Amino acid sequence: MKYIALTRKYRPQTFDEVIGQEHITKTLKNAIKSKRVAHAYIFAGPKGVGKTTTARILAKAMNCVNGPTQTPCGKCASCIEIVSSESVDVYEIDGASNRGIDEIRNLRENVKYASIRGKFKVYIIDEVHMLTTEAFNALLKTLEEPPAHVIFIFATTEPHRVIPTILSRCQRFDFRKLSIQEITNRIIYISKAEKIKIDEDALFLISKKADGSIRDAESMLDQLASYSEKAIKKADVVTVLGLCEADVYFELADAFISKESSRCLDIIDRTINNGYDLHEFVIGCIEHMRALQLVKIGADLEELRYNLQRYKTQVQKFDADDLLRVLNIMCRLEVEMKRSTQPRTVVEATFLRISKLESSVRLSEIFDRLDRLESEFTKKKDKYLTLEDITEEWLSFTNKIKEKISYLGSWLAGAKPLKLEENRLTITFPCEGDFHKEYIESSNRAVIQEELKAYFGRELELFLKVEKKKEKSDYTKKDLLEDQIVKSAVTLLDGEIISTG
Ligand SMILES: [Zn+2]
Repeated sequence: MKYIALTRKYRPQTFDEVIGQEHITKTLKNAIKSKRVAHAYIFAGPKGVGKTTTARILAKAMNCVNGPTQTPCGKCASCIEIVSSESVDVYEIDGASNRGIDEIRNLRENVKYASIRGKFKVYIIDEVHMLTTEAFNALLKTLEEPPAHVIFIFATTEPHRVIPTILSRCQRFDFRKLSIQEITNRIIYISKAEKIKIDEDALFLISKKADGSIRDAESMLDQLASYSEKAIKKADVVTVLGLCEADVYFELADAFISKESSRCLDIIDRTINNGYDLHEFVIGCIEHMRALQLVKIGADLEELRYNLQRYKTQVQKFDADDLLRVLNIMCRLEVEMKRSTQPRTVVEATFLRISKLESSVRLSEIFDRLDRLESEFTKKKDKYLTLEDITEEWLSFTNKIKEKISYLGSWLAGAKPLKLEENRLTITFPCEGDFHKEYIESSNRAVIQEELKAYFGRELELFLKVEKKKEKSDYTKKDLLEDQIVKSAVTLLDGEIISTG
């Protein structure tokens, strides 16, 4: 007997058989019923979710001997030819391999002629986003005035790469990824029909690995059915698909928690020696960390059902913030290793870094520490008034005096604070300030000292000098402050900087 791939053998033949895309099949059926089928459709969505299958069903529905019909018979010549890709009226073009303008020119020539057998000419262009700009433009001309008997169906996994002028001429349908449950149901259905025995763990692994693609799940089942002699077991799936056992991920997470760097490296070594794919392994790690994260926040998802108790136990040992950081680092690792010529080294370095991570400093903790630091700093400022403080405030201080005794304020504004020893403040006047100095010493010193106390909050004894030379002070309050901040920042954020940088 001729071997037929499961994906082909079980390909849905009617709209009702298409799984998980009811929002699309229902609309298409209604369009057929009300004779409102569009001339151009975009079928967007991930791989293996039924785009081309639905396109073929639409082609059959339009061209069936009973058509246009919501339920193509599957028995007439037109239906049979379309199923076996032999229809003269249904053209399937792979955008990825026919990127050229020539193919589209041919298509344009061809479009003009009426269909040969059926009622409609249906052009299914797969991966339409791969077409060249010239080909797109040629296609656009056809789309501007589509002949009444022509239907275009453009399938794409990357609709954002299809030029807007094409998109705007099409009715768009977005196909969705299938849930684990939907895929599981489908695999159970096919396994029963094919008399393939498969245990529950294996079933779950396949459904999860398929990542929403029914075609991928069916291909995996196909592959495993030929590999396993009697029943498909979890170990078979792990071997054939190059997956790692969940145990490995639990062990790795434990090693992260207990900061056992060498055990992390050992796990990588074992994984590679056992013939597992390193990239698959890292993806598995990400999934594990994500699962822990979901369990941590109490999410109740079907994919967690498996191993739930183990996740719950392990996640108790993980701080929520740490977990999020590890997950972030892992996601970056996945990108980095794809770019690297030394992926193993990248993985090792990352695991080492994770196993050496300091625990997350909580934001509340940071705020507490900042508060303490600030109050200490304020205290310090009260106690130790510095010359720099006075210098910085001098002009403002003299303005205050000016409000009371105008000439005195002006004179003092011309002076500069020179030094501060204990509570002895010396200010210096420019060389021509002898008169000011003497006058103040004789009549205003007490007033100024009072004002100093009011302004700076300290009892200060004032000494006056007349000098030309300016003393150099290169350590300003600003420097000090910056220094403080830098120091505090380094102290506070140490772990973060090292770990995520
Ligand atoms: Zn038919």
